[in-house]
Amino acid sequence: MARYTGSVCRQCRRENMKLFLKGDRCFSDKCSYDRRGYPPGQHGQRRSKQSDYGMQLREKQKVRRIYGISEKQFRIAFKRADRQKGITGTNLLSLLETRMDNTVFRLGFVNSRNQGRHFVRHNHFTVNGKKVNIPSYQVKKGDVIELREKSRTVQAISDSLDAIVRRGVPQWLEINKDTFKGQIVGIPTREDITLPIQEQLIVELYSK
Ligand code: SF4
Repeated sequence: MARYTGSVCRQCRRENMKLFLKGDRCFSDKCSYDRRGYPPGQHGQRRSKQSDYGMQLREKQKVRRIYGISEKQFRIAFKRADRQKGITGTNLLSLLETRMDNTVFRLGFVNSRNQGRHFVRHNHFTVNGKKVNIPSYQVKKGDVIELREKSRTVQAISDSLDAIVRRGVPQWLEINKDTFKGQIVGIPTREDITLPIQEQLIVELYSK
């Protein structure tokens, strides 16, 4: 899969908001967006009016960057969301939220989705007792995600679990830090996704 290998912070500046892609650094005074909150590039500080298409495109790119997925994966998720009953935009966000890499991040095992993807790929987690190393794996209500025995001493995971009080766990998840287990107790609703996303713009973009 094609993977973005450029500056991560540049993406926040491009989307003109903090996307929180770098874990603890995003909450420190080292955050690039806090220092230079304007788009990157030679003309970054110029003011320009955005067209409707421009706004739709930026919204799609923003969501894609928050969840760290490729254009192809995003389009597949959109098609799936469109086929489901209900509101397509909400379905899309729900599908993205229930990706395995996002879920371990939301449970507090890791401090960013990027780190979640890395740890999932390296076999640190099981789902209902079975090894799962696919970041795009869709978890469902009732699933139990457990940190494997050998991974319980990984410092980055302990640090992240200690910081969970600050971030909090959404209502559709439960975490037991003592047993290193997290459970999916519901389906993420639109209210659970507190990110400033206008998903309707993405639906409009793909409906053209
Ligand atoms: Fe974005 Fe985090 Fe970088 Fe700040 S530190 S610009 S929030 S990725």
